[in-house]
Amino acid sequence: MRKIDLTSFNIATSDTVRNINRRIVLDLIRTRQPVSRADLARLSGLQRSTISLITEQLLTEQWITQGALGHLPRGRKPRFLHLNVERAGIVGVNVRPTNTTIALADLNARFIAHDSFPTDADPDIFIKELTARLQAFIKLYPHIYFEGIGISMPGRVDSITKKLIFAPNLGWRNVNLQAPLEEATGLLVEIENAANACALAEIWFDRRSDGIQDLIAVTVSEGVGTGIVTNGQLLRGVNGLAGEFGHVSLDESGPLCKCGNRGCWEVYASNTAAINHYVRATTGGSGSKKQNDRFESDKPSFDDILRLSEQGDAKAVETIERMGHYLGVGLSMLVSGMAPSMIVLIGEITRSWERVEPVIKNVLTRRLQSSSVPTRIVPAHDNLQPRLRGSMALILQKHFGAPLTA
Ligand SMILES: [Zn+2]
Repeated sequence: MRKIDLTSFNIATSDTVRNINRRIVLDLIRTRQPVSRADLARLSGLQRSTISLITEQLLTEQWITQGALGHLPRGRKPRFLHLNVERAGIVGVNVRPTNTTIALADLNARFIAHDSFPTDADPDIFIKELTARLQAFIKLYPHIYFEGIGISMPGRVDSITKKLIFAPNLGWRNVNLQAPLEEATGLLVEIENAANACALAEIWFDRRSDGIQDLIAVTVSEGVGTGIVTNGQLLRGVNGLAGEFGHVSLDESGPLCKCGNRGCWEVYASNTAAINHYVRATTGGSGSKKQNDRFESDKPSFDDILRLSEQGDAKAVETIERMGHYLGVGLSMLVSGMAPSMIVLIGEITRSWERVEPVIKNVLTRRLQSSSVPTRIVPAHDNLQPRLRGSMALILQKHFGAPLTA
């Protein structure tokens, strides 16, 4: 139960009741479509007359459409209701250190179009390029009503000012994307940390999280990030800075991290860590300066290492298993500290899930011994593009999320 915050609260009005019921109905339509009014009454427990009023309003506002007559063996033929996917589009932007993807999706988060371009290292140049591409993108679909633009960033975003505070793998600090993009596009722009966006993608678009209120998304890419959902909401902390488990030090005398500390979880468990380890292993440990230079110029990508491990390359296999081990070390910290119902892993590593899962399970069993926390650890569906979908959830939840009352 949440305590009423007497410094900031909303009193209940007749609109409060209407707003809650409307959102419940809209979300039932989103998740159960095609659905009849009778189904909605049964699923919600609301009176048929209330359902009729709400659905009439949603039809007038073009949030939903009415499909063909349904077929039932006897009695009145119901009309099925759907989300009006023609009405609205949401733009999602996924910024990664090397590449940025823009996508347009309908209200069901089905992708309609994609664009992608290299991420410029200079934030000012990047913002100019992103603005131009978004403007061109929007112009291509004049018939679509754009609800807004959601952006996922590889760094922490201040939940009040919406500024990107620090993105170690981009080297950006205090970057304001929201204001210039809102001004240039005239659309609502929401910005969120990539791991938080992935956690939202999981609770909004994946049925396996139905009924789950506590979940952690762990993004494993250039770095390691965590997005924590607790009691059905993102855990934000002061100014939205919660979730930096990737920069919790596992060994104070470990390798230097881009954040300035030593031995952070991500210097052991990220894709970058795996690449560095593989290069060290294949140059015979220390490696001469000359050898290292050669590898610096043609370092393998993380995809290369995954492919090599699938082909049975011993050093690549060892690299992936080492990564699995360190993922397990950090995950055991999350499991014993937060006891979530589910942890979802996001990243290329999930393609080798058959190899990595037993290593992770092994570490967890050893470290957690007697405590039998029933946390499920699952890979995200790569093809669902959780970072992009999560950025879309930022906009979707404005209309479909639970309203804050009291
Ligand atoms: Zn760090």
